[in-house]
Amino acid sequence: MRFSRPSTARQVNRLRVLNLLSLREELSRADVARILGLNKVSTSEIVDALIEEKLVAEGSTKATTTGRPPTLLELQKDRLTIFAVDLESTNTSVALVNMMGEMLRYERFPTPKQPKPEEIAASIIQTVKKFLSRMRDPESVTGMVITLNATVETATGTIVSAPQWGWHNVPFVFALSNHLPFKVVIENSTKALIFGERWFGNLESASSYYYLNWGETLTGAFFSEGKVNVESLLGHIPMGTNKRCRCGSIGCLETVSGGWALLEEFGETTSLRQLVSLRKAKDSLQTAANYLAKGLTYVATILRPEKILIGGPLAALPEKLFNSITEQFEREVSPLITNTEIVKSALGEQSGVLGAASIGLDEFIFRRSLLEQIKTAFR
Ligand SMILES: [Zn+2]
Repeated sequence: MRFSRPSTARQVNRLRVLNLLSLREELSRADVARILGLNKVSTSEIVDALIEEKLVAEGSTKATTTGRPPTLLELQKDRLTIFAVDLESTNTSVALVNMMGEMLRYERFPTPKQPKPEEIAASIIQTVKKFLSRMRDPESVTGMVITLNATVETATGTIVSAPQWGWHNVPFVFALSNHLPFKVVIENSTKALIFGERWFGNLESASSYYYLNWGETLTGAFFSEGKVNVESLLGHIPMGTNKRCRCGSIGCLETVSGGWALLEEFGETTSLRQLVSLRKAKDSLQTAANYLAKGLTYVATILRPEKILIGGPLAALPEKLFNSITEQFEREVSPLITNTEIVKSALGEQSGVLGAASIGLDEFIFRRSLLEQIKTAFR
């Protein structure tokens, strides 16, 4: 890409101004120009355009001891909205979020067992249309992101493989786009979780981390040097137990630590959110935590991430159990591995939809990934 053409440079600077105003409050035009190293005239032109688009408004004035007090710029955070859909095996969550990722509406309904793609598409369309009909400004919606535990091809909107449902090469985005007045994107849920953690959480300090999505299955993603690799199948590390895994192997980590195995054991619960607080499941959860800690020692030894981040519905297990993972990990990992810290995801129970939302905010509004790429290109 070339950015020498003024219109393109202008677009990039417009995005930089928009991002700055979403990250910091109480800034005047002069502050924006100074922080971004832009001249005052072009800054004012960009700000005027953003005001015209109703993305920014001029609000209160800042108190100063000398001269005329500068007018402060305020991001109009509800001007644009995004649908974030997290498609899990047990539940489907649909959220409408604003530019700051704040949830304006939220709804969750059970995902049918062994659903057909048309069935899922129809229930998403129905829920979204219901939301739209109740909105004052449905034209604020800029797009929708759907995340699921599957291999996806984002460029074509195809679900390449979702083995839990036996889906292969499903043109899912195509099925939805015909019925919705905005752009639809799909993404792998673990990738979205790691993206959400960077967007809303506090991960800038770590240069490499391993994200464990601890839900029905155990999937992981490794983030390093600005790239995410989602191919890790942590759940299928052989642990020497005698249970048969869904993959066909015997003794995989998932047979003791995976949500699906726990749900099979406690048939009275329908969701992992219930299961984590189920009194009689405590011993099984402890065993799950123990095996997981062992699995994570392998991750730390092979990948050497700065942080191991545990997210997903099972990360919500009681504090004491969660801490036992860290304690066992520290006891068992080699003293040579000194740099890896285990932390809980900052996003909590809504991490699924927030992950999807972060993909949408980046793709449809803020383009932070693009800005990062440009920065790297000019370094
Ligand atoms: Zn397995």
